[in-house]
Amino acid sequence: MRNVAILGATGSIGESTLKVLRQHRDKFRVVALAAHSNWQAMLPIIAEFAPQYVAMHDENAAEALRTALTRFSKVKVSGGAKAVTACATFAEAEIIVAGIAGFAGLPSTWAAVANERTVLLANKEALVASGNLLLSLAEKTGATILPIDSEHNAVYQCANGMSCDRTKVRAITLTASGGPFRTRALDTFASITPDEACAHPTWDMGRKISVDSATLMNKGLEVIEAALLFRRSADDIHVLIHPTSSVHALVELVDGSVIAHIGPSDMQVPIAHALAQCLGEDVRLPLDVERFSFSRVGRLEFFDVDPLRYPALNLSYAALRSGQGACLALNAANEVAVAAFLRGELSFDRIVALVEATLSKANTRPPSTLEEVFERDREVRALSQQLLTENALLVGRGAE
Ligand code: NDP
Ligand code: MG
Repeated sequence: MRNVAILGATGSIGESTLKVLRQHRDKFRVVALAAHSNWQAMLPIIAEFAPQYVAMHDENAAEALRTALTRFSKVKVSGGAKAVTACATFAEAEIIVAGIAGFAGLPSTWAAVANERTVLLANKEALVASGNLLLSLAEKTGATILPIDSEHNAVYQCANGMSCDRTKVRAITLTASGGPFRTRALDTFASITPDEACAHPTWDMGRKISVDSATLMNKGLEVIEAALLFRRSADDIHVLIHPTSSVHALVELVDGSVIAHIGPSDMQVPIAHALAQCLGEDVRLPLDVERFSFSRVGRLEFFDVDPLRYPALNLSYAALRSGQGACLALNAANEVAVAAFLRGELSFDRIVALVEATLSKANTRPPSTLEEVFERDREVRALSQQLLTENALLVGRGAE
């Protein structure tokens, strides 16, 4: 029996993880859960999985949860940022699912790695912001990081592990559906609403990553994530638009073979693969997911990315080539821009413009400690916020 903690249990990744665990109760036990403030969504999860420990980042939510639980549960509930970190390092938890959205997930993801756990990584922003610092920490402590972002998990499956060195692998291609605006007229982008941007054609995800998928910033972050995880340069990682999301990644080997990962667009699949890796190298967990049907998909189409429609991708490649400080800044500015868009304070076509304007002014010296990562993240957010409020986007795309 393997003990699992889920960071971000009430979110989309949390829900997919729980679906997998529900089908394999004889192999995995949920011992700890964390979320931000949605205590109402946490209640039925506690009732079903009976964890020992629950952390709510929001203290009031923790209090509300405690009050609601007194009748039927012995679970310990704590509130605050430290409680979330304590969930990531809960003594009994061997496997930590890092499913918190955004940079907010860095402290807990870092803590899990520092404490030598097996980390199933969905929280790409934590890796993009801290880069090799997180990976070096894993090397030092002996923690294992297994990707559950679908494309990276697909690369792992195609390459038979995390090693994608030049003697074996020539190039990696990540696919992108192109999001909901792949064919929408560019001159209507300013009027795109948050609900339209969050209506993803092939995946059902949280709001932040859905907006990132519509701008293709998600793929940009994933290119950086892939470069870090598989230790390859920007030139070795390609992106193709593939509208049906049937092929998740392609790995080209040095002998010319290209291995593709094909499967349903369901996050249970990569999560189950990574959980199975915790049981043994050749283990597969049977899953009750909709089976992939070639006849239903019909044809597999691939297109090059149009840089005018998706300027976020070239910006991300430029950040990756520039170094870790720029990757951190790209992520921080994007989080500010997406949050402003979701609040209705920034139009869709200005999201990437704000990120670009921030990057042109930000300090992009590479951080050398975790403290510096947090400090730099705060500085970049303040800069983006200032540019946003001043509407000083003269260097942005909108003014070109
Ligand atoms: P959601 O918005 O659906 O869920 C986010 C989760 O994180 C919620 O449980 C939320 O709690 C919790 N949370 C947010 N902030 C904190 C905090 N400070 N402390 C503790 N918990 C917190 O996001 P997704 O599940 O879509 O995405 C999560 C991560 O996984 C992101 O990094 C994303 O890029 C990545 N990912 C997601 C995929 C998907 O299919 N959804 C696919 C690949 C990667 P509450 O509900 O209380 O707000
Ligand atoms: Mg992905």
